Amino acid sequence: MSALDPMRFYSQLARALSPYVAGEQPQDGGWIKLNTNESPYPPSPRVAEAIRRAASEYAADLRLYPDPDADALRGALAERHGLRRENVFISNGSDESLAFMFAAFFAGKDCVTPAVGYSFYPTYALLFGARLRLIPMGGGMSVDVMALLDADAPVIIANPNAPTTIALSREVILAMRDTLAARSQLLAVDEAYAPFYEECAVADECGRCGNLLVIRTFSKAHALAGMRVGYALGHPDLIDGLNRVRDSFNSYPVDRIAQTAALASANDRDSLRQTVAAINAVKETTRQALLSLGFECAASRTNFLFARKPGVDGRALFDGLRARRVLARRFDKPGIEDYLRITIGTAEQMDRVILAIKDILRELKP
Ligand code: PMP
Repeated sequence: MSALDPMRFYSQLARALSPYVAGEQPQDGGWIKLNTNESPYPPSPRVAEAIRRAASEYAADLRLYPDPDADALRGALAERHGLRRENVFISNGSDESLAFMFAAFFAGKDCVTPAVGYSFYPTYALLFGARLRLIPMGGGMSVDVMALLDADAPVIIANPNAPTTIALSREVILAMRDTLAARSQLLAVDEAYAPFYEECAVADECGRCGNLLVIRTFSKAHALAGMRVGYALGHPDLIDGLNRVRDSFNSYPVDRIAQTAALASANDRDSLRQTVAAINAVKETTRQALLSLGFECAASRTNFLFARKPGVDGRALFDGLRARRVLARRFDKPGIEDYLRITIGTAEQMDRVILAIKDILRELKP
């Protein structure tokens, strides 16, 4: 029998894809892991308690499918954002909300996003056949709002932006929404990092207008990346658009334990506030240390820093950190190849990172 190449079975679609490359998740210990914007602190203690109860009292319920709409969680999130349950869509991580959004609203259509942004957007655009145009950045890696609007197409934007860490103000986002509304175009705002700077958030506006979709996650400030829960907020008819896609794909994307855990976290606002305050404090100390070492590093509105040192090769810095068991993230993309994206860890971890960077800079010196 002649050898068959299994790749011949790939569809045209599979051949054309450009999959997202996630930061590595080493399974051995001993790393300072600052490459996927996870929280260095554990989730709310109420989460562990809720999971323990689910495992003991409700384990028998695991034979049943979960609530497809995650109504209890939707109710809690609606209350938290001053919206109604009908404005909330729950998904398996916010990536799934973003994917369903591309399928529901952008497949076969034009849309635009800033050139330096979350790199999953172009991946989803390819998967769902959206014509996504990348709009060049303004000065200092800022989002060029005028250029985005001049493109005359629906806009997808992360605010605060990743990996640049910079936020547009709430007023600017709402003005964009109004301009796009006048042209019957959608504005999608990915607020994955907004809990670190709620002043820029527009989640509460979702009940008021038909062209604003906000996407949020439990992976970052809620410290629940391992649970995979995200959500979208918008007009009930936008939420129904997402439901149409979900129910054409997987009717039960969020399992019972994940719903329980996210609900417990959503109901513990104090824990969220403490985590955010701790991360923001360590972030500023770390930034000052980097600035004093000659790095360029914008004031960050997220749980990570985006930094480069003029004259220093980003790959050498990345490799030097890796050799010292510190994982950062580097994007091999023109214009940002010398930047490292460094998630904020604990104060002790960041002290060690700064020492490691000093060591590397000494080593790299000609
Ligand atoms: N949006 C942005 C801007 C992100 O950085 C991330 C994390 N990679 C996500 C969405 C997705 O997060 P999750 O699927 O864990 O909710």
